[in-house]
Order: sequence, then C-alpha cells, then structure tokens
Amino acid sequence: MVISRIETIPVSVPLKPELVIRSGRGGSHTSSPFLLVKVHTDEGVTGIGEASCTPRWSGEDQVTGAHLIHTYLEPLLRGQDPLQLERLTQSFRLAFAGNYFTKSAVEMALWDIAGKVAGKPVWQLLGGKIRGSVPTKWSVSGVEPDKAAAIGARAVGQGFKAMKVKVGLDPGGDVARVAAVREAIGAGIKLGVDANGGWQPDTALATITRLYENNIAFVEQPLAPDELVAMANMRSQLRVPLIADESVYGLGDAKVIAQLKAADALSIYIGKAGGIEPARQIAEFAASAGMKCTVGSNLELGVGSAAMVHLALATAGIAAEEFPCDIIGPFYYEHDIVREPLPIKPGEAHGNERPGLGVELDEEKVERYRVRGG
Ligand SMILES: [Mg+2]
Repeated sequence: MVISRIETIPVSVPLKPELVIRSGRGGSHTSSPFLLVKVHTDEGVTGIGEASCTPRWSGEDQVTGAHLIHTYLEPLLRGQDPLQLERLTQSFRLAFAGNYFTKSAVEMALWDIAGKVAGKPVWQLLGGKIRGSVPTKWSVSGVEPDKAAAIGARAVGQGFKAMKVKVGLDPGGDVARVAAVREAIGAGIKLGVDANGGWQPDTALATITRLYENNIAFVEQPLAPDELVAMANMRSQLRVPLIADESVYGLGDAKVIAQLKAADALSIYIGKAGGIEPARQIAEFAASAGMKCTVGSNLELGVGSAAMVHLALATAGIAAEEFPCDIIGPFYYEHDIVREPLPIKPGEAHGNERPGLGVELDEEKVERYRVRGG
C-alpha cells in the first residue's frame, strides 16, 4: 500500500453564540476556520486529520496549511508506505520549519490509516488504555461575572466536576469573575484559572493571591509565553501548581521549562507538538522530569478531538485525574463534521472500539461548512 494523494478541505464551523470564547491575549473566537485532511492510498484506505489552526496561536491558517501540505508534504509522502509512520513523521521536521498544527493533521491521518489497516483503534496501537475514560474539565470564558457564573452552573448541571475560568483581562474583573463562578458551582468542583499569558509580571502574583480564597486548584499560563524566568520565580512563590500552555509547543520547550523549573505541569496539544507521537514524547519527557501533563484545546472538531481522546487514554504521562483535560471542543459547535463523534461527555471522554481514530467525516456537513473561493 502506498499513499496516492492528500486532499485538504478548508472549513469554517460556527460556535454556539452563547459559548464564544473571550480571553486575555487570545481575543474572541466566534468560528473555527480549520483544515481537514484526507490522506488517500492506492488500496482505498483513507486516513483523516484535522488542523485546528489558529493564527493567534501559531501563525498558521487553513490557507498556509493547505499550501504547505500540497507543496512539501504531499510530494514527500506520495508513493510511500503510510505504515512507516515514525520515518514519515521524522521527515516532516525537515520539510519546513514550524507549522506544527499543519503537520499534526497529516500525522493524525497516518495513525488513522494504521489503525484501519490493523483493524484496531489508535489507543490500542499506542499501547492500550491506561484509563477507561479521560476526566475532562469545562472552560468558562472571560465574560462578566454573572454570565460566567451561569456558564459554570450550567456545566455542573451537565456533569462537569472540574473547570477553569479565563482570566488575564484585568485583575479586578478577574477576581470578581472567579468569585462569582466559585459561588455558583459550590465547593466540591475543582476550579482553576487560565490567564492565556494576559497578566503582567508585577501584578500577577498579587492577583493570584487574591484568588486563593476561591480555592483555586491551579494557575495556567499566568504570563506571556516567553516570560519563562519570571514564571519560574512566580512558581516558587505559588501555593498551587502552575501549568504552562502557550510556553510549550514541542519537546525543546518542555526541556527548557524543566531546566528552569518554570512549571509544575504542561498543557500539551497534538497540534502544538506536531502530532500524536510528538505529543506523547513530551508527556514521557515531562514524567521523567517530575512534571505532570494535561491536554489542552483549540476547540477541535470531531477528528482532532478523537485524536486527543486516543492520546489521553493511552499515555501514562498525562495526569488527567489530577489535571482534567480540555477535551471539550465538540460542545462548542451546533454541528460537528463527523458522523458519529466519540462519546465525549461532560466530565469524561471515552473512546470506541472502531479502527483508527474511530470517526468518519459527515460529508454533507463538510460540504455545508466548506470554505469556497478565496
Ligand atoms: Mg490554556
């Protein structure tokens, strides 16, 4: 079997209006202009992937993604055995610099092919489940306190046992928002905060100190991504774990963070890492360096979310029980682009027994949300 061609499909899928995300440095997220990928083979097996490309995160979008795939990855992969996954993924590194979300979509599709050929789910190929399901948490947008409280209460009603609140907008508003959410969800729910790098080094610690009275469980990315030395200083003064997200894309970032002791835990993404296997390598390294990992989200659709479930089900270095994962993308959309999504429930995400990623594209929805022209 050899790879015959790669198809890229730009889609734009609107978020439910009431769930539009507002956060510190991230701005607003109202629809997801993502890129779907199909890796075709000469034997009719097709693997699917998804780049949850977000320009504010990585400088990638659906146009750059499609361009790089067709210009560099497709010539590299055409005629190659798709089951040579490790070798092919290694070659992505040299094909072009960066653009990890784009690379991850193709790597994900190769795992889908490998699973379909083997007749096994990807979690099985990764070594089998180390947990029956993945604990997940909700994310409360950086809206006014009363709205944030309502979002938090609704998430608890749906079954979430953990959540985080977006902060990093302004210290007074941040404290009011977190207090309102804690009041609304009660004492028994794990509650953390995610500043998306929005706080200034001189005021962040004072703001976090004010948040302790709401019994916060963690602080995610308090400072800008490159403020690692300041983050290390802050971490040594915190009473709760510090999670790095925007500061860690690949293994190299994880190594620097470990060296500086700038975080207790890492939020890893298949997109940031450049694929399922590179993300696993970060989790393994983190465990060896005494750090925990969770899985973060760019509001992935059904394909990207499935890949996250497989990764978290089968990776011991992901401490989902202590740091529940953000496998919540599908909740944000009225419609998904897969026919039968994985059972991603409020508070826990499950895999299925189907081969590969376990999901197939809903071609009618794909056509509905396909971005045309340009
Ligand atoms: Mg985050």
